[in-house]
Amino acid sequence: MDTQTILIIIALLLLVCYMNQETNRKIDIENNKYIKRLITNGKPVIEGNDNKKSTDKKSTDKKSNDNKKSNDKESKNINFRKEIENTHKRCPHTGMKSKIIACIQYPPLNTGFLVSLCCPRCLSEIQSDFARPQQDHNYKITKKGEYYYFHGKDKKGGQIAPKCTLENTKIVREITKNELSTPS
Ligand SMILES: [Zn+2]
Repeated sequence: MDTQTILIIIALLLLVCYMNQETNRKIDIENNKYIKRLITNGKPVIEGNDNKKSTDKKSTDKKSNDNKKSNDKESKNINFRKEIENTHKRCPHTGMKSKIIACIQYPPLNTGFLVSLCCPRCLSEIQSDFARPQQDHNYKITKKGEYYYFHGKDKKGGQIAPKCTLENTKIVREITKNELSTPS
């Protein structure tokens, strides 16, 4: 192979990398826009709402079962709120006071997670880290007990990372008083 061929291959690889990152970024923007729209447009359209309505009409036995099920959900759990209280007021990246909420797409689990950060710069740093192949990640999201935790630059523990749902976003907003941010 001559130098020119090698250079062309490198250029193509860089282009593919860039496009992949660009797609991830667009997905994140859309995710955040979607949740923001749900919050600001008032009417909560939580997934599965229609199902719940239809089961409500069924027998009371079934209803109490459903209630029990929804009580088991992470958002209803007291520990879940406590963990948000304890970990979402500080940025897991800098240790400073958190100011924004962001939905971060985590490719290894193919899921979006909510984190509270101090600034958009931390957000783009985490996003570009997760856009790389997993073995190159500096940060990670792991399951501990029943919840997921984000581990950032700041090595103190980790921040509970709820899934990006409307319900969870509302809880994090309520506790941190921060707003959802769209990546720039
Ligand atoms: Zn920051």
